[in-house]
Amino acid sequence: MKELNQLLRANILSLSPYSTARDEFQGTIGTFLDANESPFDNGSNRYPDPRQRNLKSVLSRIKGVSSDRIFVGNGSDEAIDLCFRLFCNPGLDNAVAMAPSYGMYEVAAAINDIEVREVWLDAEFRLDTEQLLAACDERTKLLFLCSPNNPSGNSLPAQQIQQITKRFDGIVVLDEAYIDFSSAESALARLDTMPNLIVLQTLSKAWGMAGLRLGLAFAQPAIIEYMSRVKYPYNVNMASQQIAIERLQEGTEGNVKLICIERERVRAALTAFRAVERVYPSDANFLLVRFRNDADAVYTRLIDRGVIVRNRSRVRGCERCLRITIGTCRENDNMLGIISQIDG
Ligand SMILES: *Cc1c(COP(=O)(O)O)cnc(C)c1O
Repeated sequence: MKELNQLLRANILSLSPYSTARDEFQGTIGTFLDANESPFDNGSNRYPDPRQRNLKSVLSRIKGVSSDRIFVGNGSDEAIDLCFRLFCNPGLDNAVAMAPSYGMYEVAAAINDIEVREVWLDAEFRLDTEQLLAACDERTKLLFLCSPNNPSGNSLPAQQIQQITKRFDGIVVLDEAYIDFSSAESALARLDTMPNLIVLQTLSKAWGMAGLRLGLAFAQPAIIEYMSRVKYPYNVNMASQQIAIERLQEGTEGNVKLICIERERVRAALTAFRAVERVYPSDANFLLVRFRNDADAVYTRLIDRGVIVRNRSRVRGCERCLRITIGTCRENDNMLGIISQIDG
């Protein structure tokens, strides 16, 4: 890996970040006449903690990672965008990403005027390390991996992630949005050994907080510090911070177990349909399902009956495929019932 100073954009290295009133005085007791807030207490009249210290301390306990290695953003999308803004000079640098995968990497790159080079997974959605590294050149600053991957649902072998991170000169961004549904271990356990790794997780999926918009990034403290300097000062609002602290303390294990049990039940049911060619293995809370004939016809029938799934059949490598999120037992039965009518 290159030195962090060689990877960061020059303007980011020399940035003097905005200093908020709450950065300059961090006590909680006193008469606060420093932030031009309204003095009338209605529960929302004060600015939120720009450093999200209480939320990070709860996350630190749950994830087993120190607070100075945690970034909290307005969804993972903010962390993805910040990766481009920190490391990629618009119009000059590039990023390499495995494909098919999450669409936001490309959108964030396009907004930042960064070329993305896609390295396509094989028919079993496996990644070729040599092909991936061959797509990189001296202007490749970021490498995007997603495991478990969206939309294929499979995980990359831990060893492969380690190898790629070791051999790549720039920053590896590993998106673990679905890691809580996986039997594979998170790369967080090995964060200390990989200084050029940024692990993304989210509270949107397993934790059931998609509406609060909370994305997490984990990396060495120097990277987290630069992300914090570049983010909007109050990027996570007070309500999100407070509710997340409560939900995190409640835990999510029971729900995750239920989803995983349902996933295997739905897999078995789908596999038995004649119309289904294949249900791909999944470490996530969705199944990628390939139909023998027309996926569009199944998609439309489901829509007509009020069940909405994601039509991925126009994505390269996902021809005739629908991506079906695992819902409650009843929701899944409803979906299965509609497909069985087509099947019969
Ligand atoms: C859903 C998802 C996310 C989560 O995005 P948020 O902005 O945190 O809601 C991130 N990465 C992948 C691959 C996803 O599928």
